[in-house]
Amino acid sequence: MARRNNRRDDGGKDLGDARSMGVRTIVDVKGEDWVIQRITGSASTKDYRCPGCNQEIRPATPHVVAWPYDDHTDHESRLQDRRHWHTPCWERFAR
Ligand SMILES: [Zn+2]
Repeated sequence: MARRNNRRDDGGKDLGDARSMGVRTIVDVKGEDWVIQRITGSASTKDYRCPGCNQEIRPATPHVVAWPYDDHTDHESRLQDRRHWHTPCWERFAR
């Protein structure tokens, strides 16, 4: 995974909001930053549509939530852009 080193040393964003959302990680996907959050099966209670394969993610399926990370926007305001992916679909997309 390519790593840029010019943006995360600026005193930075603390994404460790562990109150209810679990652990978020910023990853570099094709030169863009994305926030990903891994959802456990027990935390997944709804059907979601995976943008990778256009199939449903059934409840109780561990999967990944991802959304574009923008330094200039309030983090929480991007939650509407979240997408739920099957883990292997996400990994194929992010590779
Ligand atoms: Zn999928």
